[in-house]
Amino acid sequence: MTDVRRSALSLRAAMLLCVVGALAACSRPGGTTTPTATGAPSASATVTPSPTPSPSPTFDKLAHPLDDPTSIWVVVNKTFPLNPADWVPPDLVAMPGIPEGAKYQLRAPAADALTRLSDAAAAAGAGFKITSAYRSYTYQKGLYDPRARDRGVAVADRTTARPGYSEHQTGLATDIYDTVACRLQECFGGTAAGTFVVAHAWEYGFVIRYPQDKEGVTGYVWEPWHLRYVGTELAKAMHDSGAATLEEFFGLPPAPDYPPDPGA
Ligand SMILES: [Zn+2]
Repeated sequence: MTDVRRSALSLRAAMLLCVVGALAACSRPGGTTTPTATGAPSASATVTPSPTPSPSPTFDKLAHPLDDPTSIWVVVNKTFPLNPADWVPPDLVAMPGIPEGAKYQLRAPAADALTRLSDAAAAAGAGFKITSAYRSYTYQKGLYDPRARDRGVAVADRTTARPGYSEHQTGLATDIYDTVACRLQECFGGTAAGTFVVAHAWEYGFVIRYPQDKEGVTGYVWEPWHLRYVGTELAKAMHDSGAATLEEFFGLPPAPDYPPDPGA
């Protein structure tokens, strides 16, 4: 009886080990752990035949339209303006749960996700505040026109979207900041909040829309503070694929500049 009892205890101990955290050691291929692309197939003798893993096998790139302003996947850049140009999101809400967020609005799903991202950042000692979110066509015109007039169209186009071409008009984009010194500055990328969103924004459905060294694709210089909500499915698929921009992920043409004015 002693041997039987000892065997039973050993089995229980082994099961407990599995439960406590040695999941990688206990799970079988095709089990519940998320497939990753980091390792070569192991030579374990216990491997059973399983389907060959492929990246995001169930991801449907056609699940949401890219040209419909109501779609959370809408792509707005210097090639693809909003259509209609003066579109207004129907579900804008303020974000009182985020520092300074009561003054700004996003579409409801984006506002909810940003509030959760803000809570997680604050809990990690990397809290942020909002300095911009939804901007109307008229507001954007008020930003762009004086800048183009004073500094020239070429300079204005590098930093400020033309009205009807701003992602902020979708109600899915926000600018966040940590310290005033790095507000809307590249140095935001080196702050605690900037580092946190690079690592975790995708988990809440956001992407850094204008990454470093992608001006030739997105049309904008690096903006580590500009977050775009695309939903968790797309954000995860982009994260897993390594694609840095919406244009590259969806195979869209680069949009470094506005098309030439046919009337010019
Ligand atoms: Zn922005």
